[in-house]
Amino acid sequence: MIVVDRVTFAYETGGAPALRGASLTIREGEYVGLIGANGCGKTTLIRQLNALLLPAEGSVTVDGLDTRDRAAVAEIRRRVGMSFQNPEHQIVGMTVEEDVAFGPGNMGLPTPELRRRVDEALAAVGIAALAGRLPHTLSGGEKRLVTIAGVIATDPRYIAFDEPSAYLDPAARRRVLALIRSLNRERGIGIVHVAHDAREIVHADRVAVMEAGAIRCEGSPRDVLTDREMLRGLGLDAPPAVEIIERLREAGVGVKGGALTLKEAAAEVAAHIRSVAPGGGAEER
Ligand code: ATP
Repeated sequence: MIVVDRVTFAYETGGAPALRGASLTIREGEYVGLIGANGCGKTTLIRQLNALLLPAEGSVTVDGLDTRDRAAVAEIRRRVGMSFQNPEHQIVGMTVEEDVAFGPGNMGLPTPELRRRVDEALAAVGIAALAGRLPHTLSGGEKRLVTIAGVIATDPRYIAFDEPSAYLDPAARRRVLALIRSLNRERGIGIVHVAHDAREIVHADRVAVMEAGAIRCEGSPRDVLTDREMLRGLGLDAPPAVEIIERLREAGVGVKGGALTLKEAAAEVAAHIRSVAPGGGAEER
């Protein structure tokens, strides 16, 4: 479990603190979505999770290890992988394969185990065919996948993804989002997923909303992401399904609220149409 407990943090450049008493818990195997307006501190918060930044006040512990304990930092970084917003900042190898081997290579693994980890990570992400490519010749989406393979190869218990769909086209975005879900569901990796677009985190176990350096509220995606007014107040959009249903209700259409995905919204609209159609209701099962 990762426990962020009332963390305060200010960058040395001065200005207002980026974190002001932020608290968040990520349980093992849990998928937590983190959403908030530009500059509210999301990136700063997740950089605290693997000791890239340290709290000025409060504490961050990873499975009981305190990020301020220098002796624990290597183990904390082994447990908590980080996927940065800009993959360019994370690619270090001459080739894709070398890049993916970089993290586990630093862990002093025997060569056969290193080979196995790299091959397995490339396959898991679906980029085995890119193994020999030079990273700078890859597309933005491919670079993102390479950095994710690099994180997987270190076999972390948790991964923090900072806006993993940034710079991706819709197909690459869907692929990356599906990959993150499968890392969580099939490998039991705890996920922190920083998103701007609420649609991306409707499948999370829990959603936390950040405002001005602290967690403003958290709860199930359905509770948090259907609160259109709260999201609007923070300059965020609710998922399209929520917008559609709320607008229909404002227009006097008596659809039931609570849909989070377009599939659910369509089902609600269809149910409403059936219920008001002549002879309607009878067809509802
Ligand atoms: P975005 O959604 O735009 O990525 P964010 O929620 O991730 O934003 P942070 O990047 O954590 O927000 O920034 C929080 C605050 O800290 C902002 O006011 C930002 O200007 C400031 N900040 C971020 N990085 C640095 C830095 N390296 N040096 C100084 N100030 C920084």
